[in-house]
Amino acid sequence: MKTGAASVLLSICVHAVATYPPLRAQTSPGDQQRLEALKTVVAGDVDSRQKLTQVIVDTLFSYGELGFQEIETSRYLVALLRKEGFTVKEGIAGVPTAWMASWGSGKPVIALGSDIDCIPQASQKPGVAYHDPIVEGAPGHGEGHNSGQAVNIVAALAVKRIMEREKIPGTLRLWPGVAEELLATKAYFVREGYFKDVDAVLFAHVNHTLNVSWGATRQTGMVSVEYTFSGQSAHSGASPWRGKSALDAVELMDVGWNFRREHLRLQQRSHYVIPNGGDQPNVVPSVASVWYYFRELDYPHVNELWAIGRDIAKGAALMTGTTFTERVLGSAWAPHFNKALAEAADANIRAVGLPQWSDADQALARGLQKELQVPERGLATALEPLRGPVTDAERGFGSDDIGDVSWNVPTIALGYPSNIPDLPGHNWANAVSMATPIAHKGATAGSKALAMTMVDLLLRPEIIRDAWTYFREVQTKDVKYQPLVAPTDTPATFLNARKMAEYREPMKRYYYDATKYPTYLDQLGIKYPTIRSAQP
Ligand SMILES: [Zn+2]
Repeated sequence: MKTGAASVLLSICVHAVATYPPLRAQTSPGDQQRLEALKTVVAGDVDSRQKLTQVIVDTLFSYGELGFQEIETSRYLVALLRKEGFTVKEGIAGVPTAWMASWGSGKPVIALGSDIDCIPQASQKPGVAYHDPIVEGAPGHGEGHNSGQAVNIVAALAVKRIMEREKIPGTLRLWPGVAEELLATKAYFVREGYFKDVDAVLFAHVNHTLNVSWGATRQTGMVSVEYTFSGQSAHSGASPWRGKSALDAVELMDVGWNFRREHLRLQQRSHYVIPNGGDQPNVVPSVASVWYYFRELDYPHVNELWAIGRDIAKGAALMTGTTFTERVLGSAWAPHFNKALAEAADANIRAVGLPQWSDADQALARGLQKELQVPERGLATALEPLRGPVTDAERGFGSDDIGDVSWNVPTIALGYPSNIPDLPGHNWANAVSMATPIAHKGATAGSKALAMTMVDLLLRPEIIRDAWTYFREVQTKDVKYQPLVAPTDTPATFLNARKMAEYREPMKRYYYDATKYPTYLDQLGIKYPTIRSAQP
């Protein structure tokens, strides 16, 4: 870009970027000025790409693909990144829908990640403040994972442009969290060495506000284990004594676990589903399986919980004369985020601020909150202070396999305000805002903060130095990473194949066509916002 164009951008977006973090002594006033100017340029560049942000967000929303089945999603993102000059390696770590995109050369290596999978049965019309599926029973973005790649890609394109113009060395990597809802791939990316030469990981995740944190979060570690019992089939009416019911074993395991639950640490979270409970009542089930998530605060406690699960499975097998095998389907370390990276990002978050919400945006948020019978406080309008480590007593929550990455390289997770406060999570309600102006504006705000933080990392090497000092001397001083997956475990890429196959055809008719419609709301013919009319 020529200087003239840059100064136009500077003048356009000066309102968006008010203050900057104080720079350290080693940064001269000239350097500081340049840093500030470049942050202004990238923020303006992100603003100028709002159309691209909207198209990515809406397109991925319409694909609504479950973990390991993100075929259209990855095809679209890989094509887009290649068009923008990135080199993309597909099918990494034995996961067909995973990829690693790279651009640039030399240090620092900055890796931007965000999840791409969705939630079973969360199909929902965007902009509608009550349950109204696009395709009944189909998966949908009831977690908002359709937005994070837009945040990352747009930020990367803005930063790439100034790196080219200013000849700033560095490497940008972009990667997807495949099957995050199954916590099923990031430990394998780590095992395959994809973060070995990375200096900092900036992860993006949808939120109701713009924020980062450092230290331990409320999130737990976990291991996802399927127990498959094998018995013997027989005619349930004619000769039940000849059968050994694998389903009985599953039920007894669950009963055993639920009694034991009372005597477990309060921080644990554990839950199960029965993916296979047999075929029909008159055939004694010879095979049945139950799938557990065991969550605890750290590696030793996750392992303790898992060992109890195994003992209970043994007991259930003994009681029923069956045998069992166990298979790990996923795992996660509890995340720990980096202080130096979080502080740098937080300063940029304060400069960007929250989006200007329209009356329509707020009306949708309040309408949905009313529908869910939670306080009608609308969208977030004030930033929260930077959060440090939570205490163990405050912990106990869901998990994210970004934890495995965070114990191998300094990492932060940038939350961006594309969703509505006080939603249940993993639910159709969490999809309502995700292809509306709320998601688009929230993603743009996230992209700006991310791009500005990338400029910091490129031009202020002391941040990466401090990040590694914290990582080595504080975070991993007494805790050493060991994967929960065994060397023989492989990604469970078969998961969700059948479920996705059932819904792919009916969903295809609703894929977003950006060449025909300005937005996905336009394509679906949805009035924004659509709110339940008051009852007479
Ligand atoms: Zn998520």
